[in-house]
Amino acid sequence: PPDVLVVGGGLAALRTVAALREHGYDGTVRVLGSEGVEPYDRPPLSKHLLDRPTPAWLADDLGHDLHALADEVHLDRPARSLRAADGGGAVVTTDRGDVAAACVVLATGAHAVTVPGWRARTLHTAADADALRTALGAPARRLVVVGAGWIGAEVAGVAAAAGHAVTVLEARPAPLTAALGDHVGGLTVPWYAAAGVDLRTGVQVAGVDDRSVHLADGTHVPADAVLVAVGARPATQWLTGAVPLRGGAVPVDESYRVLGASGPLPGLHAVGDVAVRRSRRHGWVAGGHWDEALHGPDVLVRRLLGVPVAGPEATPYVFSTQLGHDLTLFGLPGGDDTVTILGDPAADGWTALWHRDDTVTGVLVVDRPRDVGAARRLLARDDLPRVALPDAAALPDDLRTLLRA
Ligand code: FAD
Repeated sequence: PPDVLVVGGGLAALRTVAALREHGYDGTVRVLGSEGVEPYDRPPLSKHLLDRPTPAWLADDLGHDLHALADEVHLDRPARSLRAADGGGAVVTTDRGDVAAACVVLATGAHAVTVPGWRARTLHTAADADALRTALGAPARRLVVVGAGWIGAEVAGVAAAAGHAVTVLEARPAPLTAALGDHVGGLTVPWYAAAGVDLRTGVQVAGVDDRSVHLADGTHVPADAVLVAVGARPATQWLTGAVPLRGGAVPVDESYRVLGASGPLPGLHAVGDVAVRRSRRHGWVAGGHWDEALHGPDVLVRRLLGVPVAGPEATPYVFSTQLGHDLTLFGLPGGDDTVTILGDPAADGWTALWHRDDTVTGVLVVDRPRDVGAARRLLARDDLPRVALPDAAALPDDLRTLLRA
């Protein structure tokens, strides 16, 4: 079998190596990482920022020992560039020499977006979490979070619960608009005040210095710590010119083969946050979510080794715990889709259903475990499901009842 080089040291890299061995691959596997630590789980970095010290996360077992599975592991040797090799495969350059392999898996994940000139923190790595926790070390600190996306909302909630004075500044009219749109994102606005967080929407930040955040209207918000949580970008700088990029990510097909201008590039694969996957069901599916880094590698390796893939394509799936609420999102809501809400967002739990006519494209379940299974089953099919929706007055309170009707 050809030798495999996995570039990246996160969840997608670890799961790729584990899947290779699980499916009986006995060739050489090498891994290049850049963080200098064993692969670890990122979702707790925000959710447990203040109640789980980092060494415990690092020791957390993602279920596999990378060193036992791979022949060579260099977690402090970032790939600097990539080029096609003459006899097939690719050559990856590092500061300590070139590494050639017949099969290269790109799993370099993402970086938090930073804004040049702003003196602010970001949260993507365990080291970032340590630094932010230290900045919040004294009681009743003033934390300003720029960006009410998944990570900003989660950090705001845990910091306020710990007694810090938290302000969230969001440029858009509501939180989570990139994932959920203005209307559904707007349903999360009351959560902030209820959690003691000062949320300001429609606010443009002009700059950040050591003591405050400056707004475009000339006012400023004093701060002891500032977290900029305005999104993540695929870590593809090192690939510039070597592979075509789509929106900054590496385009792959349903087998995670890197797509060139005229089809898959031989010997090149990408998975996890670094990739954007062409899905028959959903169109282009961007990375950025844990489930894709967890399950994508198994499909990649099966297709590579010729092992059959069981079941339909995985449904995009995101979870978040924020401001005392549990959110589960299945599918990929489109900006132009119609949204129907089941249940009362001002009461206990609710479910949002995105659809184009009667074709369901996404489901968000909030604080309602009993609808999570129904939503997962609904979207775990080869084709997007069709659901006949009754008139607004006859809508049931939850998804389970709707699907039984
Ligand atoms: P990463 O985890 O980014 O790992 C990539 C690794 O590659 C890194 O170690 C990096 O240092 C290394 N690398 C980068 N460049 C190079 C190079 N040139 N050479 C070698 N190595 C390189 N998702 C959810 O679905 N739900 C959540 O609740 C959730 N919470 C999150 C909270 C936080 C704070 C963060 C940061 C992310 C969260 N995510 C969540 C997203 C999820 O963690 C990611 O989707 C997942 O980590 C992606 O895994 P990955 O292996 O593709 O990339």
